[in-house]
Amino acid sequence: MLGALDMFSIGIGPSSSHTIGPMKAAATFINLLEELSMLNSTTHVEVNLFGSLALTGEGHGTMLAVINGLCGHNPKTVDPKVFVSCVEEIKQSGFIYLNNKHKIKFSYDNDLLLHKNEFLLQHSNAMRFIAFSNSGVLLQEDYFSVGGGFVVNKAQISSYADFASDADVPYPFKTATELFSLCKKNNISIATLVTRNELGRKTAKEFYEEASEIVQVMHESVIRGLNTEGVLPGGLNVRRRAPGLYKKLNIPTIASSPKEQRLLAIAYAMAVNEENAAFSRIVTAPTNGAAGTIPGVLEYYRNFSSDVSQDKLVEFILTAGAIGMLYKYGASISAAEVGCQGEIGVACSMAAGALTAVFGGTLIQIEKAAEIGMEHNLGMTCDPVEGLVQIPCIERNGVASSKAIDIAYLSLLEEEAGIISLDHVIKTMLQTGKDMSIKYKETSLGGLAVNIVNC
Ligand code: SF4
Repeated sequence: MLGALDMFSIGIGPSSSHTIGPMKAAATFINLLEELSMLNSTTHVEVNLFGSLALTGEGHGTMLAVINGLCGHNPKTVDPKVFVSCVEEIKQSGFIYLNNKHKIKFSYDNDLLLHKNEFLLQHSNAMRFIAFSNSGVLLQEDYFSVGGGFVVNKAQISSYADFASDADVPYPFKTATELFSLCKKNNISIATLVTRNELGRKTAKEFYEEASEIVQVMHESVIRGLNTEGVLPGGLNVRRRAPGLYKKLNIPTIASSPKEQRLLAIAYAMAVNEENAAFSRIVTAPTNGAAGTIPGVLEYYRNFSSDVSQDKLVEFILTAGAIGMLYKYGASISAAEVGCQGEIGVACSMAAGALTAVFGGTLIQIEKAAEIGMEHNLGMTCDPVEGLVQIPCIERNGVASSKAIDIAYLSLLEEEAGIISLDHVIKTMLQTGKDMSIKYKETSLGGLAVNIVNC
């Protein structure tokens, strides 16, 4: 069964499905090649990107990610500067060191093939890696980046729905009804439930430290983003706005007003997504495109609540993670499958529910907040201009943060469950995503992506 912290991974921008996923896939392929003792016989590697990865790969850094993966780099630890510079070196030299040890010729133009009009049946984010020796094909593998940095191979994708195996935890759940009933029956919080579910795999201390690391990296990405000026890479000439907003708002007397606090949450979220767009270190939450929403709300809670403690910050992350799991089980967090409702919609739902929890909300109020957080993002399309995770993504995270905060306050005023449950809205999100035209699912073939001319 998934764990609550699986919804977060420390990585590099700008996209979980188009950067982190492909990087992991390439690294997995190279590691497999080495495990099978084929690495040293490899003379040539060919990478094929299909569908959405080919259509928006340029803007999402997919090619950079694949090459980094072939070099053996890891999204969590790679230096953001090396992530870009190593590809430049490979382009110039015409050589690559597979897994940082086996040197072969590599042509950026001829060995990285984009199949923009071809979608593999299993998933629209598909990759095929082929390794050759002097005598022919050594190894060929297909991988699918299924959202949130998760990667599966051909065998795994057919049984992917079964990843929710519940045999190994004391409180198995796949739906909101199951999760909230378990909490009620055992008189425990969501954070306690997901912690107990981890205890077969790690100690409570290890789990707490992992959650704390996520809290810390989120906080650092907010601070870095608020203090880094300039223009984002990619050619759209998008100026970083978060530092300017922060300067205007972070005046002690002003920042004490609820209006400015809410605007600061927007600036915090935008700061993270500007960092994400600049290939910097962020936490996938639950995706990179949506990486700012949860840190924006968390930073708001950290700065403007009276009862903040490390335990509370961890409770926030664990509650958000549990809500994210419900979408992973019941719908999707992949924009290529369900549009932006699966990214920023899910992040808004996670953040609203988590904030309600740390504000002391009841289970009914937490569920209501998570439900409202998605209900009013239903149908949201994915249409990034030029395939860059910048417009509308950065501002959309800011707005989602502010929305999640209002939803938490609204939910705290409610005492009874509403007509629409969280499970209803998760099911609706999936159905809406399935009905959505492919143009609006991370292909940059519709919406804002085709109505903005880059001058
Ligand atoms: S529009 Fe939404 S789903 Fe699409 S890339 Fe931007 S953040 Fe991700």
